[in-house]
Amino acid sequence: MIPFNKPYLTGDETKYITDAVASGKISGNGKYTQMCHKFFENRYGFKKCLLTTSCTDALEMAALLINIQPGDEVIIPSYTFVSTANAFVLRGATIVFADSCVNNPNIDTTKIEALITSKTKAIVPVHYAGIACDMDVIMDLATKYNLFVIEDAAQAIDSFYTGNDGIKRALGSIGHLAAFSFHETKNIISGEGGMLAINDIQFAERAEVIWEKGTNRAAFFRGEVDKYGWVDIGSSFLPSEIIAAFLWAQIEYLDVIQDRRKIIWNQYFEGLKDNSAIRMPLIPDYATNNAHMFYLVFESLEIRNKYIARLKSKEIHAVFHYLSLHSSPFYNCKHDGRILDRTDLYSDTLLRLPMFYELTAKEIELIINTIKNE
Ligand SMILES: *Cc1c(COP(=O)(O)O)cnc(C)c1O
Repeated sequence: MIPFNKPYLTGDETKYITDAVASGKISGNGKYTQMCHKFFENRYGFKKCLLTTSCTDALEMAALLINIQPGDEVIIPSYTFVSTANAFVLRGATIVFADSCVNNPNIDTTKIEALITSKTKAIVPVHYAGIACDMDVIMDLATKYNLFVIEDAAQAIDSFYTGNDGIKRALGSIGHLAAFSFHETKNIISGEGGMLAINDIQFAERAEVIWEKGTNRAAFFRGEVDKYGWVDIGSSFLPSEIIAAFLWAQIEYLDVIQDRRKIIWNQYFEGLKDNSAIRMPLIPDYATNNAHMFYLVFESLEIRNKYIARLKSKEIHAVFHYLSLHSSPFYNCKHDGRILDRTDLYSDTLLRLPMFYELTAKEIELIINTIKNE
């Protein structure tokens, strides 16, 4: 059986966890948490990072930070995971769902401006498969209409965007805030886990308070205040040192993991291109590929499902992805009725192939040949 995903362990996870446990400090914001923060800030140019217990939590922190109030509107692609929308729905926002591009599942930036009203508070682009959305267009709209941009960078670690100014920027470093995931299905993992990246420094101090249950405890431990107490709303968004120690072991192998995933991705691409029945993933000139995912797009739901069945008959587990959020059981009665046919098309026709560090060249060959029916 070839599974869809298999979490990769570098071998050092338990070593660092043992160290964290032995140190006697196992709650959050200790040595390993701070090492992870420093690493991401230095490598990707985020102004400030805070590890969280999930990307979902990082998105919820973002919704609190931009002060979402009932009735505020937030523009989100319909082709995404529920957490992208849920974080804002929890604060009472109305979600205005946007359609995907013709060429890839990312938000169609040419359609965003028409969705902006006086109630719009934020745009939440999702870098699907780790491939950048067209951030210049989104940031220009945000400036023009005074909106916040929160990147859902759950899949986008170690991926980049080159804007019109020619500067290559890490995904998650462009919007005011960004959320990453270290769930076991992502490139680097900690089981469950995530991170809030803060690029607009006005949010830095309050983010730390919201992260620490609405208290100024982090400032207290740095010696900046002489007692700590309840200063704002907040929750328990910080992971324990055990999670951070696990993540640190992954961070040390980030380049090794990325190199391997790109080799796998390229083997798929070379083996499957020049096949008129399937559409290959498109990477725009402004985007890099972090090999988070390898997906194909077929002509119809029936054809896609036929391929799922064919792969399954060889014990290869390939899976479809998001069901449109605008027509979900929870939101369809709240959606404004606009038809988002590209979103629906990706729901029906996109297929994700197995993608994980330990996938062998031979297994990939079998998958390619099964798709080509050879
Ligand atoms: C994985 C994922 C999430 C959720 O991440 P968690 O860490 O599991 O909360 C959110 N958005 C997108 C686009 C994702 O792929």
